[in-house]
Amino acid sequence: MKTCISCGMPLREKKDYPLEDESKDYCVHCANADGTLQTYDERLDGMTSFIIKTQGLDHEVAQSVAKDMMSKLPAWKDVH
Ligand SMILES: [Zn+2]
Repeated sequence: MKTCISCGMPLREKKDYPLEDESKDYCVHCANADGTLQTYDERLDGMTSFIIKTQGLDHEVAQSVAKDMMSKLPAWKDVH
């Protein structure tokens, strides 16, 4: 089973893939409407708001947690 290179989510079903395209290595949440992978900054924003929402952290703290998480993922490990 593949996991998303951008967020680490397991890609179990067709609907987990952008445009249900199973040749992709990233999930529907990390893709734009046209099926391409979002940019680092878009993902960082998305992940930061997710952490604020789920863990109630301050923006600055949430962003550093998000950066740390992203630095461990294959799509972003060489970015920044
Ligand atoms: Zn993803």
